[in-house]
Amino acid sequence: MATAPTSTSVEYEVVIGLEVHSQLLTTSKMFCRCPADYANAEPNTHICPVCSGYPGVLPVINEQAIDYIMMTALALNCEIPDFCKFDRKNYGYPDLPKGYQISQYDRPISRNGYILLDVNGEERRIGITRVHMEEDTGRLVHREGKNSYTLVDLNRAGVPLMEIVSEPDIRGAEEARLYMEKLRTILVYLGVSSGKMEEGALRCDANVSIRPRGQQEFGVKTEIKNMNSFRSVERAISYEIGRQIEVLSSGGVIHQETRGWDEDRGVTVSQRSKEYADDYRYFPEPDLPPLVISREWVERIRAQMPELPDAKSKRFVEQYGLSARDAGQLTAEKALADYYEAAVAAGTSADTAARAKAAANWTLGDLRRLLNAGSLDITESRVAPQGLAELLDLIESGKISGKQGKEVLEKAFASGDTPAAVVEREGIAQMSDSGELERIVDEVIADNPKAVEDYHAGKTASVQFLVGQVMKRTRGRARPDMVSPLLLGKLGAP
Ligand SMILES: [Zn+2]
Repeated sequence: MATAPTSTSVEYEVVIGLEVHSQLLTTSKMFCRCPADYANAEPNTHICPVCSGYPGVLPVINEQAIDYIMMTALALNCEIPDFCKFDRKNYGYPDLPKGYQISQYDRPISRNGYILLDVNGEERRIGITRVHMEEDTGRLVHREGKNSYTLVDLNRAGVPLMEIVSEPDIRGAEEARLYMEKLRTILVYLGVSSGKMEEGALRCDANVSIRPRGQQEFGVKTEIKNMNSFRSVERAISYEIGRQIEVLSSGGVIHQETRGWDEDRGVTVSQRSKEYADDYRYFPEPDLPPLVISREWVERIRAQMPELPDAKSKRFVEQYGLSARDAGQLTAEKALADYYEAAVAAGTSADTAARAKAAANWTLGDLRRLLNAGSLDITESRVAPQGLAELLDLIESGKISGKQGKEVLEKAFASGDTPAAVVEREGIAQMSDSGELERIVDEVIADNPKAVEDYHAGKTASVQFLVGQVMKRTRGRARPDMVSPLLLGKLGAP
């Protein structure tokens, strides 16, 4: 567990709980038929009387959203009670025309789950308090200037949100980041979230407090908002822990409040005193009946669940003989795991174990380096899985060397041509024509009488020099395993 040493003798324990909001990749909004995807829409074009909060309208529950939340809950090992209900969370804000959000208060869709994390080799179990439904608000666009004003765009209002609340089980900033990363991986695997933190599709608030080690009672917590990357989650929490230690160590008190993360300055800033649940005047949503969730429904969703990252990683170790480390890296992104499996399947190699290992090495090594250099996602790779398989076939058949393979991959990646086309076009191939090679070996022997003499005088190391000369004349195209025997045969006994 992370400890926070201080200048005084008090040692503090860090207590963190995360509230994660994820937009769901549903077709329509939570309670109306407006499209949920507002990314490229003109402001206020995906709206209707329901999501604009007109009086007298009635919400209708989006079944796909409930399916997605249930799927997430099952993936996070949660219980799904027989029924749940919807509540109004009341507050006034310009981006919330109804004056309330429909959320779930005391009867969420699910509760009591957990997520397993690998924190520096140690398995940590972080409790999931609940996964429940919410709806998103609209957006405010502020225009600064002499006559500054604010515009309201309701395209986002009513987009389905899922809130995932953790238990206060997280013990450090790094652990919080690892939790977020694992959670994002799971959501993307399930296909319920785009996982794009930078676009606000996945948002995280952190409740952070510290307490003297050994104390049962929690310290006063602050809530940090506005973290839009994994890096900012770790930095913001790390800063806040340091700030709280400093306040307590100097005899001050922590106030329960909401603090915003200022990415540029690297500090958290007090925003407002924290609301308590009572402030929201939660009450049951009168326009929606409680939702009964049959066991058949739960089982139907369970049957649709895709293979999750932990299971896939385990399978990669068993099926492909990969190390746990390689399997973990390949399965951290679903798209990367899919790419890898497609590349293995596309190959023609008889030695499937060697092929699986080689495909992992190339995917995690040279291919990933090229992707990173271009800030590209694996789905944007200009070498398709079939292309990688083709490259591995070329190397395995001896047509090109491993070193030439790197060059071929780079050229294929840059041009979008297949590796075979690159080899053809650039004339990159190992010289397998033994007649041509023999001619060059004869030339090298004729042109280097001194080295040949040295060899016959017992200086066997001069063979290496002659091999080097052959490689040079063939511009690296000769196969070293063919050159040596050929040379030795021609030179005769030393
Ligand atoms: Zn609508």
